[in-house]
Amino acid sequence: MAEVLSTGNQPQRTCIGCRKKGTRSQLLRLVAAGSGSTAVLVDERRRMAGRGAWLHPSASCLALAIKRRAFGRALPGATGTAAVEHWITPDPNVDAAPVAATPTVQPESGSEI
Ligand SMILES: [Zn+2]
Repeated sequence: MAEVLSTGNQPQRTCIGCRKKGTRSQLLRLVAAGSGSTAVLVDERRRMAGRGAWLHPSASCLALAIKRRAFGRALPGATGTAAVEHWITPDPNVDAAPVAATPTVQPESGSEI
């Protein structure tokens, strides 16, 4: 409760994969399932109780986090990342929501007035 920096900005969280910072809306919140389970859960609504870890929803950040064993460090005892892997790289058999079209880059036209 000591972090009261009322700059009007969203608090920055650090991705446990690439260690870069992002806002809560850019990162995925992960929590330990607890109760003797080693599973890591994806807290989609960012309101689950307990200690949270933050990760960019990207396969490369996930791979980095696994490689560095960042899950076990951020969420002691939680090493089962299957749910996270599934969330980030869904089963290809499951009908996935259409991926947003990649933004088309407009060529810079000469804009002299
Ligand atoms: Zn990251």
